[in-house]
Amino acid sequence: MSKLVAIVGRPNVGKSTLFNRLTGTRAAIVSEHAGTTRDRQYGKCEWCNREFSIVDTGGWVVNSDDIFEEEIRKQVLVATEEADCILFVVDNDNGITDLDQQVATILRQTKVPVILCANKCDDNKDIYQSAEFYGLGLGTPYCISAATGSGTGDLLDLVLEKLGPETRQEEEARIPRFAIVGRPNAGKSSLINAFIGEDRHIVTDIAGTTRDSILTRYDKFGFDFYLVDTAGIRKKSKVNEDLEFYSVMRSIRAIENSDVCILLIDATRGIESQDMNIFQLVQRNQKSLVVAINKWDLVEDKSQRAIDHFQQTIRERMAPFDDFPIIFTSALTKQRIYKLLETAKNVYVQRQARITTAKLNEEMLPLIEAYPPPSIKGKYIKIKYCMQLPNTQIPSFVFYANLPQYVKEPYKRFLENKIRERWNFSGTPINIFIRQK
Ligand code: GDP
Ligand code: GDP
Repeated sequence: MSKLVAIVGRPNVGKSTLFNRLTGTRAAIVSEHAGTTRDRQYGKCEWCNREFSIVDTGGWVVNSDDIFEEEIRKQVLVATEEADCILFVVDNDNGITDLDQQVATILRQTKVPVILCANKCDDNKDIYQSAEFYGLGLGTPYCISAATGSGTGDLLDLVLEKLGPETRQEEEARIPRFAIVGRPNAGKSSLINAFIGEDRHIVTDIAGTTRDSILTRYDKFGFDFYLVDTAGIRKKSKVNEDLEFYSVMRSIRAIENSDVCILLIDATRGIESQDMNIFQLVQRNQKSLVVAINKWDLVEDKSQRAIDHFQQTIRERMAPFDDFPIIFTSALTKQRIYKLLETAKNVYVQRQARITTAKLNEEMLPLIEAYPPPSIKGKYIKIKYCMQLPNTQIPSFVFYANLPQYVKEPYKRFLENKIRERWNFSGTPINIFIRQK
């Protein structure tokens, strides 16, 4: 089971700088002004051969004066519900503020391990000042400098210690793991209930780790599958569900532990930014995707034109990845919910498909010959051979070229599209690598 670490704290203490430091990215816009970091912050951190996910809660704060503190409070609450470890960042230059106190009050009540990070200790002399933070009642403050990186190695050691040993699921291989994800009220609980009914045909129940993450195996309607669920999907939180951050936090664990994500979109609302956030999580984790347009029973215009328009809008929003199945469902009337399962199952099977080298070359080389990569600086680029790599997470194809560095993105898209036209990888991301022959 993958683990999730959340970075919390008031604005301007250095959360996003720390996030960048730990994930090795420079993507976030670090700003001098409080609350202006608006990037959606989710990334992976690797330390001592272990990988875990990090979320910077600051990326979700909307800075409207009256609800600002309330929103931070809610985010911290969601973080305590969803994360396996919390990094509470405070500013060593400023000392304790009211908002720090409020956050600390919530964190003192949680069972999730909290690490208090006194940031901006750029200099050894800064360390004396950090003693003040004992006053927050969260134990020893760890002195770090997100800007210079000092102390962050020790911090990561501590994070791994708090996360505990890596847990492996004793699951049977080759049984698909489906996650049902989507914004609040899209119909996730209704769909799960429609799948499993009241009598819950549970074969095995594998308790997750310390948190409530669970894989539950079902053998229904001729499909044998795991539903990946955080208990939270069924349990309604005390936190306001319209918080964008909420649905993202709720989805991370389920997505990370799945093979195929069933993304529910509310037909009466169409695709919104929350749906896009979740879709991006699916992509970042290289999971397969099936989109379900749910509550189809509520839509009056079910003409082919309306259907086409719906499909087109969604594919355009998710471009360039647009090769995925879209099923129009109703969790309420159970319309096409078997079809949905069947589709997810097929996507899963295709995800493991192997194309023989002979077949791949036979199909692809003539296409490449007819449309070779454009020559650059007077040099011709030749691709003479290709193969699918064995034992990869998603289908990955390598094309051997004389000048691989000159094969650009558009041509890789061309190769990908041709593969998709010939073999059914609908719903699954594909890797295309160009290497020196
Ligand atoms: P956030 O709002 O909590 O995400 O804070 P940011 O990461 O945007 O940082 C706020 C400001 O503090 C920026 O000007 C950063 O450059 C600065 N900052 C962040 N970490 C450090 C640090 O370790 N030392 C110093 N001196 N400044 C830092
Ligand atoms: P969740 O927050 O994604 O788990 O959504 P719920 O399953 O709790 O559903 C939210 C609301 O939408 C509930 O009132 C459901 O009865 C309703 N709902 C869910 N699916 C459908 C559907 O397919 N058709 C209709 N008409 N209502 C639905």
